[in-house]
Amino acid sequence: MEELNLDEWISRDCQCGNPHFDMTIEQIVIERSALKEAVLFLETKNYQKLTIVADRNTYEVAGRSFLQAVKQLKILTETCLVGYENDSEVIADEKSIVQVMTSVSANTEIIIAIGAGTIHDIVRFVSYKMGKPFLSIPTAPSVDGFTSMGAPIIVNGNKKTYQTQAPIAVFAELDILMEAPKKMIAAGFGDMLGKTTSLADWQFGHLIDEEPFCPLVFQMTEQALEKCLIHFQKIANREEEGIKILMQSLILSGLAMLRFGQSHPASGAEHHLSHYWEMDFIKKQKRQVLHGEKVSISTCLISKFYQTTIKTALIELKKGSIQFSDKRMERLKINEEKILDILMKMPASIQIQEMVRGLGGELNPQSLGISEELIESSLQNAHLLRERSTFLSFYNQFIRNQKA
Ligand SMILES: [Zn+2]
Ligand SMILES: [Zn+2]
Repeated sequence: MEELNLDEWISRDCQCGNPHFDMTIEQIVIERSALKEAVLFLETKNYQKLTIVADRNTYEVAGRSFLQAVKQLKILTETCLVGYENDSEVIADEKSIVQVMTSVSANTEIIIAIGAGTIHDIVRFVSYKMGKPFLSIPTAPSVDGFTSMGAPIIVNGNKKTYQTQAPIAVFAELDILMEAPKKMIAAGFGDMLGKTTSLADWQFGHLIDEEPFCPLVFQMTEQALEKCLIHFQKIANREEEGIKILMQSLILSGLAMLRFGQSHPASGAEHHLSHYWEMDFIKKQKRQVLHGEKVSISTCLISKFYQTTIKTALIELKKGSIQFSDKRMERLKINEEKILDILMKMPASIQIQEMVRGLGGELNPQSLGISEELIESSLQNAHLLRERSTFLSFYNQFIRNQKA
């Protein structure tokens, strides 16, 4: 069975000159025996009291059996089920934060996050604020943020990402991941597909705007993406090998960001579009959709936009039919071939669509509540949300007006 060697990637040294952050995650297990390993980990740490945080679904899927397994340790436990009876979904907002904070006893020594992205964001935030470590037990391979330090939280109707802490260890039980809902697996794969455009944007931003770049972190993310693409069919079939590769890839992508301390490798224009849509949903109080569902659709849109509109514009720039005076014009001239090559190497938009479809993911933005107008507005404005140089931000700043 082929797999990614996470330990080897973690131990690699880099001399690129950018600041790098040490990996504080002590253990990462993605196996059929992961829950047992989690119990052993807690035993060696000799904790006296822990708090489990889950929602009603993830408690049934993994919380109950985990609680059963830790009984042998004679460790005190308490459980917090996030969300109230009449809630239709669990959101990482002030209501959930207060619920968890008031449920965690002062003498708890470690908080266990059992769930997908949202539960992790809530626990990451609360554990950090309470000065306690947290342990990650993902229940679906749905997002690359399990190991991240950033906790996106909605406060007073606005989403803000707080820098908090990474888990001290991750134990992902394969039996549970393989049984995850189809749309969560499609979402995780979609978050990985987003790297096809985020890596292109990162290379471009480095060449044109001198954005910081690390070859090792680039390779980590590229390797994670490649493995997912190669094992697409096994992931779609939910084979053990496929699901393991998907989870390892998501974790590796998260570790790459953790190492770099910034989101460049994993988040480009496709993520900016997704954030833009999410903010619109929050403003209109619409039911949220999974992060990876949005990223699947935005990656299809962005890759098509890059391979048609932007490629044509770059060729026109090369011929001299479009011009502007800016230092970027000089850098563009020097790096013309490299930049066109970045676009040529991206998988075709149609291939990306086929993979999303093959996994049972949603391809129609309208079905998720993303209107034509919202898409158009995001293509023109989403780059303003982040101080990042991407093909899209470059196009909007220098070319769009000339084309109008
Ligand atoms: Zn993402
Ligand atoms: Zn480096």
